[in-house]
Amino acid sequence: MRVKCVLCDKVETIDSYSLTAKKLRKRRMLTYMCHQCNERIKKRTFERKKTGRFYLFREQKKHKHL
Ligand SMILES: [Zn+2]
Repeated sequence: MRVKCVLCDKVETIDSYSLTAKKLRKRRMLTYMCHQCNERIKKRTFERKKTGRFYLFREQKKHKHL
């Protein structure tokens, strides 16, 4: 199946039977992020964790449950 990255609009083809595809289909995961964006986010989260600010905002900034 084809999925579009929410961050860079890159369209990628993923295995329709993969866990990611299943999650997307069941709408447990409404957004798809390509590998590059994923890595970027991970890195950013890590940097924020180092500063300690990440934990302050974590509880308030929970994702909206759908
Ligand atoms: Zn992307």
